[in-house]
Amino acid sequence: MASGSSILITGGAGFIGSHLLDRLLPDNDVTVLDNFSSGKRERLAGYMGRSNFRLIEADLLQADALPEALAGKDMVFHLAANPDVRLGALDPSVHLRQNIMATHNLLEAMRRAKVKKIAFTSTSTVYGEAKQIPTPEEYGPLLPISLYGASKLACEALISSYCHTFDMQAWIYRFANIVGERGSHGVLVDFIRKLRENPTELEILGSGRQKKSYLEVKDCVEAMLLCLQASDEMVSLFNIGSEDSVDVTEIADIVVRLMGLKEVSYRYTGGDEGRGWKGDVRVMLLSLEKIKGLGWRAKGGSAQAIQSAVEALLSDGSSGS
Ligand code: NAD
Repeated sequence: MASGSSILITGGAGFIGSHLLDRLLPDNDVTVLDNFSSGKRERLAGYMGRSNFRLIEADLLQADALPEALAGKDMVFHLAANPDVRLGALDPSVHLRQNIMATHNLLEAMRRAKVKKIAFTSTSTVYGEAKQIPTPEEYGPLLPISLYGASKLACEALISSYCHTFDMQAWIYRFANIVGERGSHGVLVDFIRKLRENPTELEILGSGRQKKSYLEVKDCVEAMLLCLQASDEMVSLFNIGSEDSVDVTEIADIVVRLMGLKEVSYRYTGGDEGRGWKGDVRVMLLSLEKIKGLGWRAKGGSAQAIQSAVEALLSDGSSGS
């Protein structure tokens, strides 16, 4: 992507989207389309009124908002989604609508507007409970265990088929857990919120031994942009994460230490064979050989990413409250 491009970011008021916006805006014209379901206005406040920034407050399910958002665009970063993995067990239709239908609407509007390039934020959860750890991009069969993972896999399939049928080009990123400043969901936010409510006891969902990989959000954004420059296949697929993993009890220890708490007792819910909830993948570590072949390295390991994310969330003051 050349600088000076005209870009649409769907979900640009979200956690990752707002960091992507910070990185792209200085050198490009950027439009953000967001319905503010989880996005926050204050993340965009500093950019309002700038000539190279535009906000369209709309829902991707409203197809009539899309032609205007796509007019004259060189490419789309498609981040808007419902990222709450747990929700699928409570409302099985939410990921169908917010992820699959919304992505289909966007692709259809891109086809009509002749916008040919899309970068899409997929997830490690498409691998389900993979038998191969670290899990490479070509692992299969892909059997997600959450409706969220299933919806993202369906989005990947739609995007690939649109590329082949309508001469489009896509970059699909399968993220590990992304953490950092402005994070508004996930285990860190959950622990901080619970410990603020009760500094003596922490409920930990599952066995505490679920072990996953975590990457700092700014590192994630750099990886996204590198993949874009380095690959010109019709559909490029990249795992993005860090090279190690930590378990949930280790995360709790980091949060407790950084909050300056002592003698916190941990209460494990046990759950479904150690899972924190239906659809919780217990072990996740992505193979990074492909992106490392482009020269990329995560700046630190999972524990370091968690530590800096917790520090940022605690000083931000808005997390978990
Ligand atoms: P987020 O909830 O902070 O951001 C999503 C944004 O999309 C929000 O601003 C929300 O208001 C907006 N949005 C949602 N539905 C919309 C709709 N129908 N129309 C318009 N706007 C809509 O989540 P995030 O953590 O920043 O995740 C961004 C993307 O990365 C998502 O696609 C998510 O699935 C993916 N992802 C995130 C992680 C992670 O660890 N955070 C891991 C893997 C994949």
